[in-house]
Amino acid sequence: MRFVTLPLLLSSMMLFSCQQQEAGQAPSTELQAIFPKGQQGPAELFTGTAYNYGLVPNDSVYTTLVGNVYFEPGARSNWHTHPAGQILIITDGVGYHQIEGQPKEIMRKGDVVKCPPNVKHWHGASADTGLQQMYIVPNTEKGIVEWMEPVSDEVYLQD
Ligand code: MN
Repeated sequence: MRFVTLPLLLSSMMLFSCQQQEAGQAPSTELQAIFPKGQQGPAELFTGTAYNYGLVPNDSVYTTLVGNVYFEPGARSNWHTHPAGQILIITDGVGYHQIEGQPKEIMRKGDVVKCPPNVKHWHGASADTGLQQMYIVPNTEKGIVEWMEPVSDEVYLQD
């Protein structure tokens, strides 16, 4: 009669699961989320799937808007301007920021990016990895955002 001892059975199961991971599983692209995901951004303003979570609401005392956006891979904002500028703080993932007429710039965890007032730009995730991005909009009495057209795939994929 043949039988397999428990330790041998366990070790062969572990071997099997390791081999399975090597063969099929892509590396995880799950990001470390600090804040809740929030509400999905509307299709009129975003290409792909992005979520916004407000952290500091705009009011007359602070005149500053703070929040977090999670962009899934490939997602990005429409082109837009901020009348008083904007500061981005990247907390995880990989993304892009582009000012009109300039090459797109890569953004990674720990990067701080300033978008100057009234400069047309967009921001979003890379094609393969999502992006966790905090935003700070100062001096909101001047305005928060002026939305424009979507970022085409051609522009998005250009180096
Ligand atoms: Mn912006």
